Amino acid sequence: MKYQYPIKNHKVSCEFGKVGSWQCGWHIGVDLVGDREIFPIAQGVVESINSKGKSYGNHVVIKHDDGMVSLYAHLSEVKVKVGQKVYLDTLIGLMGDTGNATGVHLHLELHNGAYKYPAKGSNPYTATWIINPLEWIEDHIVTDESEPSEWTKVDWDWCKENGYLDGTRPHDALTREEMAAVIRRIVEKLN
Ligand SMILES: [Zn+2]
Repeated sequence: MKYQYPIKNHKVSCEFGKVGSWQCGWHIGVDLVGDREIFPIAQGVVESINSKGKSYGNHVVIKHDDGMVSLYAHLSEVKVKVGQKVYLDTLIGLMGDTGNATGVHLHLELHNGAYKYPAKGSNPYTATWIINPLEWIEDHIVTDESEPSEWTKVDWDWCKENGYLDGTRPHDALTREEMAAVIRRIVEKLN
C-alpha cells in the first residue's frame, strides 16, 4: 500500500501525542502547515464528510484498502463526495481554519480499522488503534528506490520469469529463507 504526505512543503505545527486541553487530554492527530491543496495519504474511498463532530470543521474521512482510516480536518473547501474513490492525485480539499482551529492548518488523523475518538485519560500507548500519521507515512512512503532501476530491470524480469524471485514485498530485503531458495535453485540449475 503506497502512502504519501497529504500536502506539499509540510511543516509540523503541533505534534502527535502532545498533552493538552483536547477532550481526551492529548492530540490524536498531527497539525501540518504548507501548501493548501490536500491529497489523500493513500488511495481509498470517501467514507464520510462532516460526520465526526463540530470541532473538526469541514472534514473528510477516507477508508483505505488496507483497513486504515484517515481524517482531514478544518478544510476551507471539500472537493470530494461520499463514496468517491480517491487516488494519490485526487484533490480532496483546501486547507482552512473551520471548526475549532486557531489558524489555517490541516489536522490529520489515522485510525486502524475504524474511526474512534479515545476516552479521557487515554494516551498514545493505550489507544492503540490511533496511529501517528507521520510515522506511518514515513514507513510506507513511495520512493523512487522502490522501483527497479533501469539497468537492473532486465535482470529483475528474468528472475521473476524463471521463478528465482517472486516479486512479493517489493520494498523489503530478502529473508534468509528466500536467499536459501534462490541459492538452491541456481545451484540446481548449474549442476
Ligand atoms: Zn490538530
